[in-house]
Parts: sequence; structure tokens; C-alpha cells
Amino acid sequence: MTMNDVQIAIVGAGFSGLGAAIKLKQNGVDDFVILDRGADFGGTWRDNTYPGAACDVPSQLYSYSFAHNPRWSRSYSHQPEIHRYINDVADEHGVRAHTRFGTEVERAEWHDDQRRWILDVVRDGRHEQVRAEIMVGAVGPLCEPNLPDIDGFDDFGGKIVHSARWDNDYDFTGKRVAVIGTGASAIQLVPEVAKAAARLDVYQRTAPWIVPRTERPYTPAEHWAFENVPGFQTAMRGVVYAANEITAFGLTYSPKSLKPVELICRANIARSIRDRELKRKVTPTFQVGCKRILRSNDWYPAIARSNVALVTDPIAGITETGIVTQDGTARDVDVIVVATGFHVTDSPVFDKIVGTDGRSLAGVWEEIGMQGYKGSFVNGFPNMMLMIGPSTGLGHTSMVYMIESQLNYLVDYITTVRAQGITRADVKFDAQRAYNAEIQHSLRNSVWVNGGCASWYKDHHGNITTLWPGFTFNFRRITKHFDIAAYDVERGASASATSATTEKRPASVTA
Ligand code: NAP
Repeated sequence: MTMNDVQIAIVGAGFSGLGAAIKLKQNGVDDFVILDRGADFGGTWRDNTYPGAACDVPSQLYSYSFAHNPRWSRSYSHQPEIHRYINDVADEHGVRAHTRFGTEVERAEWHDDQRRWILDVVRDGRHEQVRAEIMVGAVGPLCEPNLPDIDGFDDFGGKIVHSARWDNDYDFTGKRVAVIGTGASAIQLVPEVAKAAARLDVYQRTAPWIVPRTERPYTPAEHWAFENVPGFQTAMRGVVYAANEITAFGLTYSPKSLKPVELICRANIARSIRDRELKRKVTPTFQVGCKRILRSNDWYPAIARSNVALVTDPIAGITETGIVTQDGTARDVDVIVVATGFHVTDSPVFDKIVGTDGRSLAGVWEEIGMQGYKGSFVNGFPNMMLMIGPSTGLGHTSMVYMIESQLNYLVDYITTVRAQGITRADVKFDAQRAYNAEIQHSLRNSVWVNGGCASWYKDHHGNITTLWPGFTFNFRRITKHFDIAAYDVERGASASATSATTEKRPASVTA
């Protein structure tokens, strides 16, 4: 078996893995490799190719601050354009040569005796190992599609497709289609599929709150200004950023102040749907913001179409020919589209990462909940930095902002360990515990806790462990420098810890 030695192994070539690679190069670190199971850069923006896939954060902000794109065609970009942008940035920064595509990481285990992560990878059917001093886990929280726990999927004789694994060769024209789910992905793909399908049944468990999408093409004058007026795009980013941060206040500290957003959503329904029964069905019963606030102009018109039915009776099961609801109605279809999201707090990836004492990330998080330190490090997993780790997700603005905050932390971490000859850094359990207690305290009045909805923002302990509470500039502030005092560090080849305050994790702890 081939063994490859590198200083840093980055797993994942999406926005965060690519960003990490670029920042390392810019800071003089070249001894790294990116491993990705796909065929090019883009991560979730490579994998989600369903019709209508687009970003609901304006392109000006949903891009790297160090790689402005004056050629965005519209105010909100669609998947092909974002995918192209990410690949262009990778080429402009010479990162492709560092990247091994088609490479699946099957397991990553920390070996204390070697002070190395050893990654078992499969590439073109061949098993190899990559040994790295530091591992950057950049797989993203939305990478493992979630199939709903509904009986009968195996019995279905037609086609099943998940929104994140779209089959672009399949022709929906004239087909009888079922879509399960009414989240961010479903509301984008349903209007497109409805145009082609003979009949479309949309299975809704929970109605989402939806604001209009203020999307428009950029004018030639704007494109000229993006290219030629210094600071124009930066200023636009600033405006979008500031406007979005206002929502953060309402979501985290004052859900009542989100009332105007609810009124906009209600007006959106009133304007789009005439049928009283359909209006009732699409009006959410939880507080706006408790689940992601969606953006669409074509969702309500789509479900009001004559060939579309919104089914709200719970699904009882799937048969060989279609879907049966609990009221006993059977609806036969040719294809079932599963738009039911991702394994976020229970990702199978967590089973594959093994830290000290042979404990997997899944095992540790099963016990203490999905928690880490500054979204980046987890006690018991030395020399591993996670991108978009626990408590970094957002419902109101661009994840790229959070990623870039973590990139500052990554660069300072790498610079520090190099300068000080540190061979092992493990975040202290007490630092992690205090950090998470503070996060949970900040969330106590939030709409995610009190808004009356069930959401994937919560882990199995019932804690919100996916979202960053409050303003994102606070995350930028706390990730500016690698705060070495929060870590147990060791230097050189010996196992002598420099910190006198090492604390062992108790057997059972809740945040
Ligand atoms: P999602 O938000 O998790 O939505 C999943 C949908 O499936 C929900 O409507 C859910 O209903 C439904 N569902 C799950 N299990 C079900 C079952 N057993 N029976 C019936 N319905 C079931 O997933 P997503 O739409 O793929 O979006 C995931 C995330 O991806 C988003 O929150 C967002 O962060 C990201 N995304 C972003 C964009 C963008 O524009 N930037 C676009 C797409 C996705 P319940 O609500 O009742 O659980």
C-alpha cells in the first residue's frame, strides 16, 4: 500500500477546503494535499445540480472577499455560475495541482505515537494511506443526503432521486412525480419540475415561511462599475452584510422584532394564492425564523398550478407503484424526488474520524452533544481543525463570511505551531465546555429555541449545536488569533505536555 506524507491534509474541495488551500499557499505553506471524492471543486455547489438550484444569499457576499467576481450575471447566483466561480478561483490560485479528486477518505485516525493523522483513502479502486501532521476537515455539514425514515422505499418500482444527487439525464416530461419535502431545495426544484411533469404531488410535513426573492440581472452599468470603480463591489458587500446582520438580532435576541418579516411572508401568500384551503395549508404555524426563512417568487404559483397537488396528510408508506398517505389515499407515480435534506448532526462522516483512545467523533458527540471550540477544534482530536464545525451555521447571511473567519484562525494556528515547534495541540476540555455553555446561554431567548418548531438545527440532546448565535462579526473577532492558552500543546517528538492544566473529559457531560 502506498503511503504519502504531507504536513497538512485537507479533506473536501468546497468553499472551505479551497479557501484553506489558498490561505495556506498565500502564507508560504505548500506541503498540503486536498482530497475529494468528487471530480472537481465546489462541494455542495458541485453536487446540487437539481433544476432551479441557486443561492439565497446575494452573490456579492456569497463569494470570497479576496476573489471578487465582477462578472456575476444576477444579484442571486444560480448553481452553475457559483460552481464555475469556485473552479475559476481554484485555477487562479494554482490549487488544482495540490488536489486529488476521485479520492474517498474511508477513515482518518489519530496516531499519538507518530503525532500524525493516518487517512485510509480509496482512489480509482486502489487503497492508499495519507499521513499528515494536521488534518483539516472541510467536508461541509450538507454533504450526506438524508433519506427519510419511511417504510417501503425498497419496494418502489419507479425511480427515486435525492435533490443532492440529481440525475440530469432523466426526463421528467409527462411523468407523474412525487416530491417529498418543502425545504430550501424543494422550493427551488418544484417550480421547474412542475413545468415538465404531467402531474406533481408535493408532500408537505411543515409549511415554510417564504419571503419574495429580489433577484434581478445586473445591468451593463453595474458590470462596468464592478470592473472599473475601485471599492464598488466591496461597498456592495458591506451593504448586503449590514442589512443581513439586522436579522441576526431578531433571530437570536428578539424574535418578536421579526414580526415585519412574518407580515411580508403573509402578504406573499395572500398575493400568490386565492384558494382558501390552499392558503391555510401553506401558512406556517411556528414563529418565523425558527426554521430557515426561504426566498422564492415561484413556489406559491407552482403549487397553485392545475397539475400540482399539495398533500399534507402524513405519508404512511411507499408501495411498488407510489405513495400512500395515512388517510388511505394511494397516489401512483413514476418518480419520487426526495428533498429531505442532509445528515447534519448525525453525519456518517463522524464515524470515520477517530481521535485519542480510539474514540470516534460520532461516539464523543453521541455522549456530549455536537460541540467543539470556536467551531474548529474538538477535545480528543489533536491537530484536527474542522471547517464549519459545531455552532457555526447561519440562517441569515453568507457562510463564506464564517469560513473566512475560520481561515484567519487556521492561518494563525499553522503559523503558531510552525514558529513554536508544536507537534500536538488538543483543545482543553474545560475551554470547550465553557465555550459551549456560553453558546447555549446566548441562544436561550432565540427563535430557534422558543419558536415552536422541530428542526435539524438541534442535536439529539435537544441543544442547538449547528448555529452561531448573534452577530457574525463576533465570530470574526474571536477567530482572529489562535488562542494557544485554550490548548494542551506538546513540542518536539516527546510526549511532554507544556500545559499544567490538562483536564481529562469526564465520562458523561451535557452542555
Ligand atoms: P431541509 O431544509 O432539511 O428540508 C427537508 C424537507 O424535507 C423539510 O420540508 C422536511 O419537513 C421534509 N421531510 C424530512 N423528512 C420527511 C418525512 N419523513 N416526511 C415528509 N417530509 C419530510 O433540506 P433542504 O431543503 O435540502 O435544505 C437543507 C439546507 O441546505 C438548507 O437549510 C440550507 O442551509 C441549504 N440550502 C441552501 C440553499 C440556498 O439557496 N443557499 C438552497 C438549498 C439548500 P419538516 O420541515 O417537517 O422537517
